[in-house]
Amino acid sequence: MKVDMILKYQSLDREMFKIEKGLKDNQNKKMADTLRDNIKNAQERSVKLEENAGKLLNDIEKVKSQIKTQEQKMQEFLNKDIEKMTKGEVEKLASLKDKLNQNLVILEKNLTALAENMNAILADFNKTKKIFNSAKDEYAKRKEAYENDVKSIENQKSEIAGKLKELSKSIDSNIMQVYQKRRNENVFPVLVPLNGNSCGGCHMELPFANITKLNEEGVITCEHCRRIVYKH
Ligand SMILES: [Zn+2]
Repeated sequence: MKVDMILKYQSLDREMFKIEKGLKDNQNKKMADTLRDNIKNAQERSVKLEENAGKLLNDIEKVKSQIKTQEQKMQEFLNKDIEKMTKGEVEKLASLKDKLNQNLVILEKNLTALAENMNAILADFNKTKKIFNSAKDEYAKRKEAYENDVKSIENQKSEIAGKLKELSKSIDSNIMQVYQKRRNENVFPVLVPLNGNSCGGCHMELPFANITKLNEEGVITCEHCRRIVYKH
């Protein structure tokens, strides 16, 4: 089998492979992908912070109502007419007052701590929102830039694709099929020369029987890397 045409095909396909690789490595695309991840993370964080803030608000309401209860008890105590009480009753009320005061102090402390947590969450929320907004703007820019990059090589790509299609018509369909299969697996080059007794792609030595077959048929598939090995 003659490999001239498929070698010609491959050398043109190399241009296509370069373009595809360039698009895969495109900086705008990479940045856009990273920014998209950042946006997603910021969104998830915002949801989580909102949840936490909701829970915290509940806790704050609870503590506030506990404080109110303690204050009411205190008021009931203050409304009592001490003049009419026995000494024992007065002492009992005094210790109740101490306890109520202690409870109030603890509850106020809890409330302060909860308020501080809330401030921290709000600060985090604002920071996350800022990250989200700037990532969103930058993402839109990068995405557009990438789309322009793609557009700018579209003509070149379709021109090469047209030539490749034309060339493929004069190539054995079996070898073309094998070539396309490898190529779709992102293997390049697909066609490699025999190098001594080794595959020019993966450098593994070919078995003697395969060399014989190669001499007879002109091409052989490397058992290791599945590339097409030809003799030149
Ligand atoms: Zn190989």
